[in-house]
Amino acid sequence: MITRHPQSSLPFEFDRHRRARLLVVDDQPVNVQAIHQIFAATHDVFMATSGEQALIFCRKTPPDLVLLDVVMHGMSGLEVCRSLKRRPDTQDIPVIFVTGHEQPDEETACWEAGGVDFVNKPVNPTTLRNRVRAHLTLKLQADLLREMAFVDGLTGVANRRFFDERLEAEWRRCTRSQLPLALIMADVDFFKRYNDRYGHQAGDDCLCRVAAALRLGLKRPYDLVARYGGEEFVGILPDTDLAGASAIAHSLERAVRGLQIEHADSSVEKVVTISLGVGYAPPWPVRPAESLIALADAQLYRAKQEGRARVCSGVLEEKS
Ligand code: GH3
Ligand code: MG
Ligand code: MG
Repeated sequence: MITRHPQSSLPFEFDRHRRARLLVVDDQPVNVQAIHQIFAATHDVFMATSGEQALIFCRKTPPDLVLLDVVMHGMSGLEVCRSLKRRPDTQDIPVIFVTGHEQPDEETACWEAGGVDFVNKPVNPTTLRNRVRAHLTLKLQADLLREMAFVDGLTGVANRRFFDERLEAEWRRCTRSQLPLALIMADVDFFKRYNDRYGHQAGDDCLCRVAAALRLGLKRPYDLVARYGGEEFVGILPDTDLAGASAIAHSLERAVRGLQIEHADSSVEKVVTISLGVGYAPPWPVRPAESLIALADAQLYRAKQEGRARVCSGVLEEKS
């Protein structure tokens, strides 16, 4: 099994140099084997012999494309496809159906379930290779566009645009499900002095290392680290209580300090440190999203005022 990209808080991953990943789903192992042979030399091929197995695989380690048998014992291929298309984390995976009989009704059902194409059994290897290549090209181009739109070019974490969208979505989800939501804002201490002393290039390297440490520190699947701007980062922690969010903020502070990046001109430490503000929104029914950003920002300001290299936290009040 492959492991997920460390930047798993993004809904996609991109590595220009990796081989494309195909998932072949068929309840007859002999069919799976036949397709495996066609692609084994050029792609990373994974196999599932039931619909349930396929769904679990796709949620854990989304492949670039799925080749899906229509008629299977238990969950049918059509059900598997519909289920993939319902979830935001799997809906962009293209599905090519491998169909047994050439009946117009079945073809229509494949399109309606959300398939991008289909091939008939017994598969013609040349046709299958070409279909897969065409759809993979589209998929990888879409990934690249998403990366350009949503990833910060310097640090590789999510950018501000992605943060804004995700916060909006998490805010709605948490409000609907009566879940709390926490936001952490972090800002590098005396970063202007760092640039002045060590140069802009060293400043950029420092931001990359800080971003990586923050990303490593937020481990849950729905957590997100984004670059908010300049030397400011922000973390979204859905369904996290105040004590939990505050503990995580402290661990992020320690993690950055632990990088031991020399900062001779800092007035707090001899290494690079960050200040953090935590905003916590209890599951109140009425809460405007911007107020949480303002709260985290105010706490960050307080952390700066109180001496930097520390965490300050606040709770959002209920709006009547
Ligand atoms: P404070 O402890 O109060 O946060 O002080 P500070 O110096 O960190 O804050 P200030 O906002 O005065 O300066 C932020 C500096 O961050 C200024 C800017 O040049 C630098 N900066 C912002 N973005 C980048 C970047 O992408 N690369 C580099 N190298 N520096 C950046
Ligand atoms: Mg700043
Ligand atoms: Mg700063």
